[in-house]
Amino acid sequence: MEKMEKLYHDLIRINSVSGNEKEIAYFIGQKLEEMGLEPHYSQYKDMENSITVSTRLDSGRSGKKMLLIGHTDTVAFGEGWDTDPLEPTIVGDRTYARGAMDMKGGITAILETMEYFVNHKDEFDGEIIAAFVADEEVLSRGTYQLAAEGLEADFAIMAECRFDNVAIGFRGRYSIDVSVFGKAIHSQYYPDQGDNAIIRAGMLAAEIEKLPTLTHPNLKHGTWCVRHIQGGNPNALVVPERCDMLVERFVVPGETYETCEKQLKDLVVSLGIEDKVQIKLRPRELPYMESFSIPADLDIVTVLQKNYKDVVEKDLPASYDLSVCDSNILAVTLDIPTVTFGPSGGNMHGANEYGYFDQVVACKEIYIRTVRDMLR
Ligand SMILES: [Zn+2]
Repeated sequence: MEKMEKLYHDLIRINSVSGNEKEIAYFIGQKLEEMGLEPHYSQYKDMENSITVSTRLDSGRSGKKMLLIGHTDTVAFGEGWDTDPLEPTIVGDRTYARGAMDMKGGITAILETMEYFVNHKDEFDGEIIAAFVADEEVLSRGTYQLAAEGLEADFAIMAECRFDNVAIGFRGRYSIDVSVFGKAIHSQYYPDQGDNAIIRAGMLAAEIEKLPTLTHPNLKHGTWCVRHIQGGNPNALVVPERCDMLVERFVVPGETYETCEKQLKDLVVSLGIEDKVQIKLRPRELPYMESFSIPADLDIVTVLQKNYKDVVEKDLPASYDLSVCDSNILAVTLDIPTVTFGPSGGNMHGANEYGYFDQVVACKEIYIRTVRDMLR
């Protein structure tokens, strides 16, 4: 078997479900050492089984810094597989396994790109940084850890699985706790006495989903979704005095948590229930992802598109993603213009996930050409 395909399969065979990225990090670190690169291991707080590994390749000449980044973790295997999710199974041009699409192909392409430049240091100026991060599928602790360690670059390729287009904008997302209060009383006295928090929350929920959002030419618009609701006691004859809702808010550039909270506060004031409602951003161990979009005419975008066309002989349209990923952290928190493009497949996060190895090969070639063009 060709060396690159073996690497892809070796990565797949290592179980790296989120929270368990130590073995794959050390495997990648060993590959880097074999190339002559120095692995740098990062651990987030006390998560000793969840390790991020990164490295840098310095040309020895001054220049810009290019970051190639991907996550090593996968979602859990789940049920319903026709094959062993840890054993790459080739059917036609597909390779079935967990991580075959998301995103051990991208990791393979980055490693191969690094090896190419170790052997062709004369082909670039400045520095190439490669990062293989843990925990992307959970809280992005790996990327936040690298951010805390001072990761910086002039541009980045996030090798996430999307091969037919390059994402240059993502929405952001917040989880907001909205608590509605009423007045408890034995339910025999209701409705003459007592005040039902569930009914008030239900009416408020309907109004929340009618709230406007900003629009964006490519990211469509934000959304309001009342995603969870809880209140009352099914085992007691008591009028509910409290009802808690989780409101999920996707945002587009121009919308922040502050603007969303103001919309909610204005709404409850207009309904005359401001003293019966509490609105709070749900606490999160790490910051929420904010929305971003980079100009479609930036070099990192157009150079990637040109190289894709040369290699794949098709156009690579710029696209916009309605959800969030580690690219949000790179682009917003670290201010690194980031394109999201890598080998893809199908059944992402589901049973019978598969990747296309020929896309992994193509991405290696496209990454090499793009690094070469950008670091000159
Ligand atoms: Zn992914």
